[in-house]
Amino acid sequence: MSTRPVWAEVSLERLRGNLEVLRRSVAEHWLDGPPDNLPELLAVVKADAYGHGVTLCGPALAAAGARWLGVTSVEEGCVLRRALGVLPSHLSATRILVMSGVWHGEADAAIDHGLTAQVWERFQLELLHQAASRRGLPAGAVSVHLEIDTGMARQGVAPGRALAELLEHPVLRSGRIAVDGVMTHFSAAERLLEPETEAQILRFSSALGQLAGAGIVPRWVHAGNSATVFSRGQCGALQALAEGCGARLMLRPGLALYGYAPRTIPAQEPGGLEPVLSWKTRIVSLRELGVGQGAGYNSIFRATRPTRLALTPVGYGDGLNRMLSGLEPSSLEPSSGSAMLVRGERARVAGRISMDQTMLDVTDIRGVAIGDEVAILGEQSGPAGAARLTAWEHADLCGTIPYEVLCRIAARVPRVVVG
Ligand SMILES: *Cc1c(COP(=O)(O)O)cnc(C)c1O
Repeated sequence: MSTRPVWAEVSLERLRGNLEVLRRSVAEHWLDGPPDNLPELLAVVKADAYGHGVTLCGPALAAAGARWLGVTSVEEGCVLRRALGVLPSHLSATRILVMSGVWHGEADAAIDHGLTAQVWERFQLELLHQAASRRGLPAGAVSVHLEIDTGMARQGVAPGRALAELLEHPVLRSGRIAVDGVMTHFSAAERLLEPETEAQILRFSSALGQLAGAGIVPRWVHAGNSATVFSRGQCGALQALAEGCGARLMLRPGLALYGYAPRTIPAQEPGGLEPVLSWKTRIVSLRELGVGQGAGYNSIFRATRPTRLALTPVGYGDGLNRMLSGLEPSSLEPSSGSAMLVRGERARVAGRISMDQTMLDVTDIRGVAIGDEVAILGEQSGPAGAARLTAWEHADLCGTIPYEVLCRIAARVPRVVVG
């Protein structure tokens, strides 16, 4: 049981709402197409659902109709499969794509948990084939999604000779392992008019042609991320590709499900997304500082006026980035620097963030008391108004992206479902 007052609230209602926003966006782009051929959305729940808890979010997304979920390890896929087991059988059949491939010692668990592996290396096909043979499974019982490297150069097989060689592999030629899907990943999906994305789509197209030539007919063709869902141009080009080979298109949003719109260039704000996670703590101690008194490691905070400091029991051990530490107050613009919300107002972080503690300057906030709830991320209203802190703010201050802010929230912070 966790009794320390540091926790993260996960709103499944908002998660479902964001899925709906994504679905509406896709439907709007497909006004001309037959409604029964709308692109499917694979809900990405890797890295413990971007720090939100895969056992909470996975079943909620499946129950809301997500037929594919994406993870990046077999271990996580197994945890997710067990979590889906609580759903009625038609929902627990949700497909789980392991987007990182399989490694030695993982193929048995992948098959036994009904995971679909993304593959591009010969050894991955061999591991799956050996595990299928050990189980006496018939040809085609284990299917994979083939990843094409169209320019990201991270995972995948390049179109042309490398792909031709892979397709010659006996387990593919014989159909013992079936290719159920073909996918690629864009290196700059957020740049809506990026020539590189167009070039990647062309290379993807040539790979699909090569597969058709080899007699491989995938059911699924997928690419793209959150930004792609909101980008009419990229969606249209992909739709044409999928239709060209008689497959169903799938897009793979992650971040937007959790309520963060991708920062696209040119900017395009999809409305209606709401952050799913709120990170909270409480004030556990208060003290007064006289002018000139320092606080925290190396006294990098020094009071320039009579100051009231509030202590919160959250620190970098919880995943709060130490780059959010607050310097001497006059050295920062009043509106910049990191803050938490107390009584609906912004309270600046005072001094160094410690492993397990962070202090806040609450001098200007009236009526602060031990026990007050503090929002590290999320919304809060109080007597003086309401405010919101998002992972974008932390990300900008730390020179990173909201993905990292969210999935760095440590495992010791309990995730609590609200709504
Ligand atoms: C993480 C990931 C996504 C989702 O990207 P977002 O930017 O979070 O929408 C899609 N596809 C792959 C292969 C990924 O690794």
